[in-house]
Amino acid sequence: MPVRLFNTLTGQIDPLVPSDGQALRMYACGPTVYDYGHIGNFRTFLQIDVLRRFLKLSGVEIRHVMNITDVDDKIIRNSSEAGLSIGDYSARYVDAFFEDIEALRIERPEEIARATEHIPRMVELVQRLSQSGAAYKTEDGSWYFRLASFPEYGKLSKKDLSGMEDGARVDVDEYEKDSARDFALWKAAKPGETAWDTAIGHGRPGWHIECSAMSMEFLGDSFDLHAGGEDLMFPHHENEIAQSESVTHKPLAHHWMHVRFLLVDGRKMSKSEGNFYTLRDLLLKGYKASAIRLALISVPYRHQLNFTFEGLIEATAAIERLRNFHERLVNGAFAAGENSDIQTAAKDAQAEYMASLANDLNTAEARAPIFDLIRASNSAIDHGRFFDCDRNAVLKVLASFDAVFDVIEDHDAEPTKRAVAWAEQSGRQADIAPELQARLSLSDEAIDALVAERTQAKKQRNFARADQIRNELAEKGILIEDSKDGVRWKRK
Ligand code: AMP
Ligand code: ZN
Repeated sequence: MPVRLFNTLTGQIDPLVPSDGQALRMYACGPTVYDYGHIGNFRTFLQIDVLRRFLKLSGVEIRHVMNITDVDDKIIRNSSEAGLSIGDYSARYVDAFFEDIEALRIERPEEIARATEHIPRMVELVQRLSQSGAAYKTEDGSWYFRLASFPEYGKLSKKDLSGMEDGARVDVDEYEKDSARDFALWKAAKPGETAWDTAIGHGRPGWHIECSAMSMEFLGDSFDLHAGGEDLMFPHHENEIAQSESVTHKPLAHHWMHVRFLLVDGRKMSKSEGNFYTLRDLLLKGYKASAIRLALISVPYRHQLNFTFEGLIEATAAIERLRNFHERLVNGAFAAGENSDIQTAAKDAQAEYMASLANDLNTAEARAPIFDLIRASNSAIDHGRFFDCDRNAVLKVLASFDAVFDVIEDHDAEPTKRAVAWAEQSGRQADIAPELQARLSLSDEAIDALVAERTQAKKQRNFARADQIRNELAEKGILIEDSKDGVRWKRK
C-alpha cells in the first residue's frame, strides 16, 4: 500500500512514491539557529520524523536533506548585539538543536546542509536568474526577484495576488501575506555586517535563496517532497518555487507537506508572542522526553494541536501502559502454543495500524488498534489464555509501532540528566523542579545499595526497615518491583 499524503500543491491526498523508482528525495526546511528551538518548532520536525520512519517501515528508501539556516536577519541582529561573529553566535544553538532532536528521538536526515557552506551555489542561482531577467540589482548592490516575471506565483498558497504592485520591494526575510512584493535574493552588506565577496557583490544571501540552492544542489532540479511548518507555505516556499522554477522550468517538488501549528490558548506558539516552551523548559519541569514526543505526534500533522500539560500527563500514562505491557511480555513465562483469537487480533491490529499511517499519517487512528491489542492481550494473560506464539506475534506489532512512535524503549534518563547539567551550567538552577531534583539526588549505585539493604532487612524479618526504604525511594520517584526473578527498580 503506497503512503498517501496531502499535497498542498494539488490540494488533495496523493500517493508519495519515489519518482526515480529508487529513493524518495525529500527536503525539509530546518531550523534558524538564532536561539533555542521551542516545542512548536519540534512538532514540525517530529511529524517529518514520523513520515520518514513510516516510509522506511513501508520499505521506501529515502534521501532526506535538511538545511540549517545559519545566516539570516535575526542571526545577524543577535550576533552583532552579542558582539560575536555569526559562526560563534550560532554554534551554541546548532549544538542545542542536535541535542534536542536526539532527546526527542528525531532521526538525523541523510544530509544536513548549512547555508554558510553553500554560498557559491546561491550566487550562481542569482546569476542565472539575472540572465533570464527574473532578478535585478538595486542601487545599493542588493538583488531582488522580479515577481512579475513569474505568473505562476501564488500557486502553492493559492493566494490571489492580482492587486500586487509591480516593482514594490520587501527586503526582510519574513513578511506577511499582504506584502507579496519583489523579494530580496541577495542583500548588500551594511557596515559591520557579515558578508561574502562574490561575483554579484559584497553581501549575503536572503533566506529564500538558501533553500532553493541547497535543495537543488543535493536533490536535483526536481524532487519528490518538500516539507515544513504551515507558516513556510507563504512566502518562503512560494519564493523557493519562483526562484527555482524560473531557471529550471521544472516543478521544484512534486509534493508539498505542511505541518500545522502547535498552539497555546488558540494562538501560534512563537518566540515573538512569548507563549513558548523549549524542550529544556519541559524536561526541567520533570516531563519525560518520550512523553513530549508522544504528545506532539499523537495529533495528526494536518490538525493544529493545542499544547496543554494535561496532554503531557496523558502521554506519560500511555507510555507507562506501553512499557509495562512490553515488560510483561518480555519477562513473562508463557506455555507453548497459541490462542487463535490473539493471533487474529495481532494481525488485524498490524493491518489497521499500517493503513492508518498510510492514510495521510493518521497517528491518532494508528494508536487505537495498538491499545486495543494491549487490552485484549492483558485480559488473555490474566485468564491463562496467552501463549508463547502469541507473545511473539504481539511483540512484532509493538516493534512496528515503535519503529515510528519510538517511545517503548526507555531512553528518558539521559536527556533529563543533560537538561539538568545544562541548567546548572547556565545559572538556571531555579528552573529545575524540586521533585526532579529529589529524583535525581540518588545515583544508580545508591539505589542499588538501598535495594540490597531492603532485601537483607526482609530476610531478617525487619519489615519496618524494609518498608521504610521502599517509602523513601518512592518519595524520590523510585519504584521497587518484587518478582519471581528477584527485585527490580525503576525511576518513575
Ligand atoms: P524556524 O527555526 O523559525 O525557521 O522554524 C523551524 C520550523 O518550525 C519551521 O518549519 C516552522 O514552520 C516550524 N514552526 C514554527 N512555529 C511553529 C509552531 N508553533 N508549530 C509548529 N511548527 C512551527
Ligand atoms: Zn526553507
